[in-house]
Amino acid sequence: MFEKDGEKDKNFKYKYELPEITELISCPSCKEGKVQLTRTVHKLPDGEDILILLMECDNCSFQQNDVLTLDTSFKAGTWDLFVENEEDLTQKIFRSPDGHIYLPEANFEIEPGSNSGYLITNVEGIINRMIHWANYMMDSYSSEEENEKKITSETIATLKNCLSGKQSFHIIMKDTTGGSYISSSKKKILNFVPLEIEKTDV
Ligand SMILES: [Zn+2]
Repeated sequence: MFEKDGEKDKNFKYKYELPEITELISCPSCKEGKVQLTRTVHKLPDGEDILILLMECDNCSFQQNDVLTLDTSFKAGTWDLFVENEEDLTQKIFRSPDGHIYLPEANFEIEPGSNSGYLITNVEGIINRMIHWANYMMDSYSSEEENEKKITSETIATLKNCLSGKQSFHIIMKDTTGGSYISSSKKKILNFVPLEIEKTDV
């Protein structure tokens, strides 16, 4: 009896081996502290597995709980988050090493690098990352690449407008393996299309 339970527990943990957290997000409340994330996998009496995310700021009293259903949440497909205003910049993004993130209004995409890990951030963190890469591109152009410079500087201006809440935009995250997730407190701004349906559309 004891052995059987132990075996079951081991398999359960193996099934949801949680990826390492490589980036801490800034506190949405005090903006100074870093949010510490505690993850617990829990089995409900009806057999469904859930992931409880506890977020706590190391600087202020900010605390937030998120519950994700593991069986249904981590599916392959495309997430579409519509960011209407500054408030939505705190919506959380969980990107697996296979997740591609695209911001169509700025025509900018982040592809995970070969050694990139699991990224846990929010919309603000994604845009800051995009601005960082766009600035890096600006610095790498030669003096003849006037057109590229012009396009990239326009991209940076758009990204800054998105970051300040002046412009609404979409965050499109595509993951063909199903390790990525967007957790939004406003369900109406988030849409998910599973990969199976996308395939039949084509
Ligand atoms: Zn804080």
